[in-house]
Amino acid sequence: MTPKYIPRLLLVMGLILSSCLGAFSENKQLPTIVILATGGTIAGAAGSGTQASYKSGAVTIDAMLAAIPGIKDLAKIKGEQISNVGSQDMTVHIMLTLGKRINALLAQKEVDGIVVTHGTDTLEETAFFLNLLVKSAKPVVMVGSMRPSTAVSADGPLNLYNAIGVAIDPNSRGRGVLVVMNDWIHGAHSLTKTSTTAVQTFMSPLRGLVGISSYGKNDFYNNPHWKHTTASEFETANISTLPRVDILYAYAGMPPDLIDASVAGGAKGIVIAGVGNGNMNRASLEAAARAAKKGIVVVRSSRVATGSVGRNVEVNDDELNLVASDELNPQKARILLMLALLKTRTTADIQSLFYTY
Ligand code: GLU
Repeated sequence: MTPKYIPRLLLVMGLILSSCLGAFSENKQLPTIVILATGGTIAGAAGSGTQASYKSGAVTIDAMLAAIPGIKDLAKIKGEQISNVGSQDMTVHIMLTLGKRINALLAQKEVDGIVVTHGTDTLEETAFFLNLLVKSAKPVVMVGSMRPSTAVSADGPLNLYNAIGVAIDPNSRGRGVLVVMNDWIHGAHSLTKTSTTAVQTFMSPLRGLVGISSYGKNDFYNNPHWKHTTASEFETANISTLPRVDILYAYAGMPPDLIDASVAGGAKGIVIAGVGNGNMNRASLEAAARAAKKGIVVVRSSRVATGSVGRNVEVNDDELNLVASDELNPQKARILLMLALLKTRTTADIQSLFYTY
């Protein structure tokens, strides 16, 4: 090379280096979010844009991200597939795997937040489970969709965009596990699925929303009231399995032998999805008291969508040795009871856990 080209070469090298450094530092500023995929409709595909039936969990994380313009400008995103199930097939085992993986990832300095994609059917159960077991104040945001990725007006891409927008927001820290669906930010304790098919399915009837997410910009209104994550006494570390807890649905004429059958089947706890304020007919109440005498913990929750179940209001819980679920619906009461039974079988202690979480 002749000397006259050397300055030009240095200039070109300098430009390349500075653009690399620029890209690096730009990239460095982006937060790192790990998406943990579990399956569900958000990763579902149908034969056509208007077909109601579809296969859950058919789409990879990369393909989901490819459908979202601008997502790469929000965060550095890594993906891991934890499971690939419709959430009706979610198990305690998968939930535990997820909880342990989230704790391991959030312990890494470079990970700023987690997004979990999940089917909507049991999303509230996994959200509440993680709310009790994640040991970090960093954001953990769950998201799903009601329409498969191939549908006309699929809701998954914007839900995922907003979920990532919440996961990178420093204001999301310390609020427990959050769920982002259809622009709304819910707390894990209070949300519940209210429509089998509508896009606007999740509601937080008793406590209201934690906030609103709009195209990645968030407005927070509320801090979840209950203990969670870093303040929770529950740990994933030593849990490999959880005791069987059944949910029994009460109704006019409910036969009491449902409770006896659950006990005979090996349940260590029973949640009654009671009528009204956690009620069941007299014969079932007697069966519940019989179960309690054998050391099975019976929690009275309600099949009604909103309101709390009060201790000793219509049922004498002290006398029958039962637990009132307070604000937890049956499916979340089951999650708390499974974890509580690892620590204690004393009804008074379990009642106080229901007032705390
Ligand atoms: N049953 C599916 C699931 O929970 C569909 C519901 C959904 O993801 O919206 O995974």
